[in-house]
Amino acid sequence: MTEHETLKRHLNRWANRDEMREAVAATMLSIADSCCAISEVIALGPLAGSLGASQGQNVDGDIQYALDMRANELIIDEMIDAPVAYLASEELELPVPINQGAPLYVAIDPLDGSSNIDTNVSVGTIFSVMPMKCDKGDSESDCFLQQGTHQLAAGYVIYGPQTAMVMTLGEGTHIFTLNPDTGEFCLTTAHIAIPEDTNEFAINTSNFRRWDGHVKAYIDDCLDGAEGPHEKNYNTRWIASLVAECHRILVRGGIFLYPGDRREAYRSGRLRLAYECNPIAFLVEQAGGAATTGNQRILEIEPTDIHQRAPLIFGSRNEVNLLAHYYAEVHPMRERSQLFGNRGLFRTG
Ligand code: MN
Ligand code: MN
Repeated sequence: MTEHETLKRHLNRWANRDEMREAVAATMLSIADSCCAISEVIALGPLAGSLGASQGQNVDGDIQYALDMRANELIIDEMIDAPVAYLASEELELPVPINQGAPLYVAIDPLDGSSNIDTNVSVGTIFSVMPMKCDKGDSESDCFLQQGTHQLAAGYVIYGPQTAMVMTLGEGTHIFTLNPDTGEFCLTTAHIAIPEDTNEFAINTSNFRRWDGHVKAYIDDCLDGAEGPHEKNYNTRWIASLVAECHRILVRGGIFLYPGDRREAYRSGRLRLAYECNPIAFLVEQAGGAATTGNQRILEIEPTDIHQRAPLIFGSRNEVNLLAHYYAEVHPMRERSQLFGNRGLFRTG
């Protein structure tokens, strides 16, 4: 095997004895260690017990699986030695205090895609490292509500055919592949760049009737292919595992959409801002792509709740910009039939 820089070495070189950077580096290594342990449990599958068994619900009413809770515990165990003041997790109603006075806090989705675990599809851990610097007030709880632009580091670990950490420190997006023999994450792709153009879109089309006019019009035009206004044929992709979708898009481009829809619980989509949308948006922007709600850059959303949701659209820059035009120019209440009518009653095909 060729020599690859380890995550540890990469982080040490980057930190260069800067105190804050050293704290971020130590935290990243703790996350990497816990993900290494999670990876081992996932690789055992049914041999490790019934990991896909549901165990109740989290604060948001999502089903919690045995593996969600196991991953959450493995992360908390590792965080105890990290310079982290609080840990906010999808599986915990409130952020838990870890080390008082420490300079960082971490928001994490311990296991993303856990409802897929029994199907042996790629799942992941998504994380965001923030400073414990409060710009809203003095209350510690205000610190959890910072815009994504304040992230010091972010990424995910994907548990697929290979386990890999995809991370950014704000200086590009890099992929480190886990060598299971040594337990080390090793740099395999530095400065990944998302192709600017794409003809692949990923959205749960079963919700078509529930979307607003912007999304309907965009998808309609995608489906019209080379004869439509986009003048190209598309392929669809939908894995229903955020890290798997993001990984594909980082490697070969694409656009992913999880918009809000008409249902009360889906007004702002399903994905959580702090530990899903923000870290993914940071990674994607650092790889030259774009991430938006349709109307607003994800990283500039002013959060009001640690578990709040946000519509998430990300991917190849030119395609995301094209989609943004539909938000700016198509009326949200305009229905598909009216839109067609608008384009000409004598439209054929
Ligand atoms: Mn998730
Ligand atoms: Mn989860």
